[in-house]
Amino acid sequence: MKKNCSFCGRSEREVSLLITGVSGYICSDCAQQAYQIVQDAFQETKKDEGLGFKLEELPKPKDIKEYLDQYVIGQDDAKRYLSVAVYNHYKRLAQQKMDDGVEIEKSNIIMVGSTGTGKTLMARTIAKLLRVPFTIVDATVFTEAGYVGEDVESILSRLLQVADYDVAAAQRGIVFIDEIDKIARKSDNPSITRDVSGEGVQQGLLKLLEGSMVNVPPKGGRKHPDQDYIHVDTKNILFICGGAFDGIEKKIAQRLNTHVVGFNSVQNIQQIDKSNLMKYILPQDLKSFGLIPEIIGRLPVLTYLNPLDREALRRILTEPKNSIVKQQIKLFEMDGIKLSFDNEVLEYIVDKAVEYKLGARGLRSIMESIMIDAMYEVPSKKQKTYKVSLSYAKKQLEKANLIGS
Ligand code: ADP
Repeated sequence: MKKNCSFCGRSEREVSLLITGVSGYICSDCAQQAYQIVQDAFQETKKDEGLGFKLEELPKPKDIKEYLDQYVIGQDDAKRYLSVAVYNHYKRLAQQKMDDGVEIEKSNIIMVGSTGTGKTLMARTIAKLLRVPFTIVDATVFTEAGYVGEDVESILSRLLQVADYDVAAAQRGIVFIDEIDKIARKSDNPSITRDVSGEGVQQGLLKLLEGSMVNVPPKGGRKHPDQDYIHVDTKNILFICGGAFDGIEKKIAQRLNTHVVGFNSVQNIQQIDKSNLMKYILPQDLKSFGLIPEIIGRLPVLTYLNPLDREALRRILTEPKNSIVKQQIKLFEMDGIKLSFDNEVLEYIVDKAVEYKLGARGLRSIMESIMIDAMYEVPSKKQKTYKVSLSYAKKQLEKANLIGS
């Protein structure tokens, strides 16, 4: 009997493969086409559902903060702000299905705090918990070319990659923009020393924050062989910005000083915690620092991170779920060796981190310097335990410092 494809009618000879069914046939071409139709249909339903998650099932702000607490030491204010902002981001996405006229606006976030206080760590940790694509980029990629340049596209292309080229998912993702202070205008007064480059770069970022349609060239084009560009709308992407804003305390102090003159001034001065001016930060301080008002307006959630004191550094060494000490112990454990540290060693590492003014970032490099020889030698030995003593730690670090200098 002559076999024909029940869909296109072509005979067995005209097609490369004919699959036999219960009461008909399908050729490989039609099967492929059918597969594509099914894929597209699923894509459509996904879009209709909009989110792929239910708000009730999502972590509440308190849950988000509790999760952050496991990895990030201190920084309670920033954690609360971030938890609420992320939760609201979900709510905002969820409400698009309803249509009661109340539109929740996007609450992009800006976190201000010295380098190494946990801004990136916080963003990364939140990303682990989230069910939306997340990527970290550096603000310095924004060039004068701005919006039309490669830069903005590359950010979104990274987000697309993370989302496995699911455009709908990428469009509701979160982007962490680091070092936002680096694109600040050098002078607060545009009429005198107009630092055009700083401002031009900020305009580029502004377009992204405001929400615009960006054409992103597909990477690893195989997934979209017949598509030239992927259109990504940044309207629903949540942006979290971070920056050290070195010297912004001076601007805060200036503002506080001018405001405490006159009535009530004595009480005000007494209330101000001069050791940590950062907590008084307001949007106008960002403006004094050189961010254009439009950008500040698009980053309505402003929060700060505290400088890490000795006690915080000591906790960071051992308390987080993946603390530096826990990581070292795990590394040795994989060789069947039980690693331990004398308590003074940990105190010594913290002292050195404070002395070198390296913050939490220093803890890791100090630990690495102390451990390098042991990590090199111990796995080849038969021993089952290894204890790091203070004298050994001191010797190792001094040796490393000598080589380094
Ligand atoms: P930045 O504020 O410059 O983005 P990071 O988040 O990159 O700083 O911090 C650098 C490293 O220091 C992190 O990988 C982490 O190990 C450690 N660290 C910094 N702050 C904290 C913190 N509050 N709690 C725990 N670890 C921290």
